[in-house]
Amino acid sequence: MAIILPELPYAKNALEPHISEKTLEFHHGKHHNAYVVNGNKLIEGTELAEDSLEEIIKKTAGDASRAGIFNNAAQVWNHTFYWQCMKPGGGGPPSGPIAEKINADFKSYEKFVEEFKNAGVTQFGSGWAWLALKDDALQITKTANADSPIAHGTTPLLVVDVWEHAYYLDYQNRRPDYLSAFVENLINWDFVNACLG
Ligand code: MN
Repeated sequence: MAIILPELPYAKNALEPHISEKTLEFHHGKHHNAYVVNGNKLIEGTELAEDSLEEIIKKTAGDASRAGIFNNAAQVWNHTFYWQCMKPGGGGPPSGPIAEKINADFKSYEKFVEEFKNAGVTQFGSGWAWLALKDDALQITKTANADSPIAHGTTPLLVVDVWEHAYYLDYQNRRPDYLSAFVENLINWDFVNACLG
């Protein structure tokens, strides 16, 4: 199987009270798993069956006839990346190379937080808000539905899932509160630094 469901990098209750065990049970065990199951069904018997997840995404991006494969594969990639972007006791200002890069490219951590949260709040409907690297410059972007920087040649460093299934059980319609909790209490800056390379 080309597409697998990775284990969460922490216990399902490890992100409480910011993200509940129940949310992670549904989000990882049902939503993420469904993308894995559906993606594998769709590539079975095709020339994509032996490809890596990244190759499947790149080969099907922008191809309307294979939108189902792209959507499921990209959602698997995005979720796998999202879990790693969080850790218990995370969040707050970063240290290491990403701290210097944020100060250089956004002027300050506070300005980065403002722009990152604004991207999440203003993504209309389902999607993702990203910190990514393009031509050695940090950029904040948002993508709709399953779309991913992987399909656009930029290097993702950090993502927050703003589909309602990511926060509705804990925050209902209060997406800004979920984004604040993510930034202040959950971001795994060690992972972001590792992605920065
Ligand atoms: Mn999700």
